[in-house]
Amino acid sequence: KFISLEGGEGVGKSTQAQMLSDALEMRGLGVLETREPGGTPGAEAIRKLLLDKQFDWDVAAEALLFAAARSDHVANAIGPALNEGQWVVCDRFIDSSRAYQAGGDDLSDDAILSLHTIGSYALMPDITFLLQAESEDVAQRLAERDGDNADRIGSRSADYHARVAQRFRDLAAMDPERFVLIDAAGSPEEVHARIMRAMAPLLGE
Ligand code: C5P
Repeated sequence: KFISLEGGEGVGKSTQAQMLSDALEMRGLGVLETREPGGTPGAEAIRKLLLDKQFDWDVAAEALLFAAARSDHVANAIGPALNEGQWVVCDRFIDSSRAYQAGGDDLSDDAILSLHTIGSYALMPDITFLLQAESEDVAQRLAERDGDNADRIGSRSADYHARVAQRFRDLAAMDPERFVLIDAAGSPEEVHARIMRAMAPLLGE
């Protein structure tokens, strides 16, 4: 099974990806825990290019780089793991491109999906947890992130992030079978418990 975690910056996706992977491993399942952009040496190299503030990527170039990173990640990590019957837990996937490059940057959703078809066989997760938090909670978590910026890419406006959040909600509403909305408020353990409740049917629990 292929599980993705989505949401804006600082909602705790990485922590939850780790906790979910640990929970699956404790059940004796083989798990690949990975992230986007990144997850393979090639895609991690592209991630560095994307997050390097010395480059002012055009939105189209940025979308192509995210798609290229995802393509390598699917070809060399996610695809092989799924073929071996492993569970894959991915911190961000295609929905981030649809929310950021289409929702935030205003490329068309069709264009993003075309790149996904070209690059990654239009692979979709089986289940996607959309973590949603109040902006004050997010600001606090980001402040606690040592030496890290709120947004690792360029200088994006609050308006941009509002469009991203809205697009995530729209995507979830369009595909309620795949998306599970998770309230990201509370302790990591509380959020993890919400995710595990939604996982129970998949785990036969
Ligand atoms: O998830 P993480 O915070 O590591 O993402 C790294 C950066 O890449 C973030 O600033 C996020 O906004 C950005 N990003 C993006 N478009 C994507 C995926 C991530 O702009 N498709």
